[in-house]
Amino acid sequence: MSSSENTDSFEAEVVVVGAGLSGLVAAAEAYNAGRSVLILDQEPEASLGGQAHWSFGGIFLVDSPEQRHLGVKDSAELALSDWLGSAAFDRVEDHWPREWARAYVAFAAGEKRAWLHSLGVRFFPLVQWAERGGYDAQGHCNSVPRFHVVWGTGPGILQPFLAKLAEGVDAGMVRYAFRHRATALLTAGPGTDAAGTGAAGAAGPHALPQSVEGTTDSVIGLSGDVLEPSDAVRGAPSSRTVVGTFTVRARAVIVTTGGIGGNHELVRRQWPGGKAPGYLLTGVPASVDGEFQFVVAKAGGSLINTDRMWHYPEGIHNFEPVWPNHGIRILSGPSPLWLDATGKRLPVPLFPGFDSQGALRHIVATGYTHSWFILNRTIINKEFALSGSEQNPDLTGKDLKLLAKRVLPGSIGPVQGFLDRGIDFLQAGTAAQLAAKMNALTGADLIDGEALHDLIAARDLQVRCGLGKDTQLNAIRSARRFATDKLMRVVPPHEMLAPEHGPLIAVRLSVLTRKSLGGIQTDLRSRVLAADGAPIAGLFAAGEAAGFGGGGVHGSRALEGTFLGGCLFSGRSAGRAAAAEVG
Ligand SMILES: Cc1cc2nc3c(=O)[nH]c(=O)nc-3n(C[C@H](O)[C@H](O)[C@H](O)COP(=O)(O)OP(=O)(O)OC[C@H]3O[C@@H](n4cnc5c(N)ncnc54)[C@H](O)[C@@H]3O)c2cc1C
Repeated sequence: MSSSENTDSFEAEVVVVGAGLSGLVAAAEAYNAGRSVLILDQEPEASLGGQAHWSFGGIFLVDSPEQRHLGVKDSAELALSDWLGSAAFDRVEDHWPREWARAYVAFAAGEKRAWLHSLGVRFFPLVQWAERGGYDAQGHCNSVPRFHVVWGTGPGILQPFLAKLAEGVDAGMVRYAFRHRATALLTAGPGTDAAGTGAAGAAGPHALPQSVEGTTDSVIGLSGDVLEPSDAVRGAPSSRTVVGTFTVRARAVIVTTGGIGGNHELVRRQWPGGKAPGYLLTGVPASVDGEFQFVVAKAGGSLINTDRMWHYPEGIHNFEPVWPNHGIRILSGPSPLWLDATGKRLPVPLFPGFDSQGALRHIVATGYTHSWFILNRTIINKEFALSGSEQNPDLTGKDLKLLAKRVLPGSIGPVQGFLDRGIDFLQAGTAAQLAAKMNALTGADLIDGEALHDLIAARDLQVRCGLGKDTQLNAIRSARRFATDKLMRVVPPHEMLAPEHGPLIAVRLSVLTRKSLGGIQTDLRSRVLAADGAPIAGLFAAGEAAGFGGGGVHGSRALEGTFLGGCLFSGRSAGRAAAAEVG
């Protein structure tokens, strides 16, 4: 690196923009292939690893030993059928996303687990069932449980790649540059070689080619701002004060800048149909700003499926926020009643954990910004989990003693903190008292206490009769046929109003922003494609910025655990392809 008058300039064979999981995987692959790598990130080193550090570490695997041990009969054929049923690809631009989907499912059913295992990644043996569905055989969701939680959660999946890159730093082949925010791609037109020695780069050894907007010429580097040093803790917003500029000359640029979930303005602008809820919680750090995707578009890269997003309706306010409006997602078992803001049950099959997008759409269409889970102490004890590494200290810390407590009655770990201190959690002895508290919380008399009591009592009558017509109760009974659910996720159906299961609990749920399903269009080698379908030389994209591959590998809906996996698969592909192109 050279530096003068607050201008840094770097050279590397491969530059990776964004030090989240996809960037780290891509960088590790390029280093493995013998390339010198520069990794840029706008955040301080404290936030290394991006969103993956915060993640629950759920990974989509197909026909794994863990599944087989639990008696689950999975196959690549079934997984692909589930994927395509959920994705519902229906656009011309879905060509590459569909190709990515096929390749990714084959990876998840093939070498993915063995590859991760060889890197030291291990899994919690009790596979979880995310997105249970409730539609027909060709509809959305998983037919079987596939959500494998990494032992060590998010930090556990980052660890091998960080270790590999630390080795590269020691070898002088890998460098990190934190507080470096990329703002432009440098391109060179025909007649310019990959090192940028043509007309655009002819003014001297460190002179750089000009940035050219709106072309599909070769990418030969990038430029940006150096931000002032920051002591912001992991995930907290950091200052955007610019103290200098930088340029990088590279033979390949890999864009791994993440999605848009931290940028509410963009989320609202791209919301399908334009009618985003009036109030949103934020489920990702503020660094997930989506800005760099537009830089790629300016350089000719094609952005597709930007209206496809994966936000959650089950968000609660974090009582210890790290980033502004910090929300946490409840991962609920199937027993709570899910009511809209006016106290009506959501339609079948929108039970907790069945079809989060379906529930989201339904709730948003009511015109209110919240909905409710109604449950009791028995249900919360067993069925409430929270997404995020910090909310699961047993799995994150690989603490077997703490983990054993999960199956003990009455021990609900971090959920207790929300019950005690979370503004969304209400408790009462009767439905009428609960309704009064719900109305007080929202400041509107939308919940009728008598109607709430009748609704729960009618459900309880169904429990008492043993058989019954209530689809949710039948779904609960069906879930308990699977060992993990029976052991740690689903309580036996019981009368919710029975005092021994009380108190009653209401949890106000708000919409929580999280993932982008669309993004930069790429081919199977992670090469960024222009609108005419031609690859842009020297430019690659992976992870959430690339819609986890192709510009939208999930189509309209995801099966869960597919995001970290998408970062692994597309990051690996980008790192390998960039290294090969450089060679
Ligand atoms: C709480 C939580 C739980 C989750 N749980 C799961 C789960 O269990 N399973 C699952 O599959 N997925 C899960 N996810 C989603 C998954 O973690 C993310 O989709 C994934 O980690 C995204 O990785 P990425 O590398 O694409 O982007 P990011 O992690 O967002 O990294 C992008 C990086 O790029 C940097 N950057 C952005 N713009 C610039 C720029 N212009 N210049 C320089 N740097 C820039 C950012 O600072 C950031 O460090 C979870 C996410 C969260 C937040």
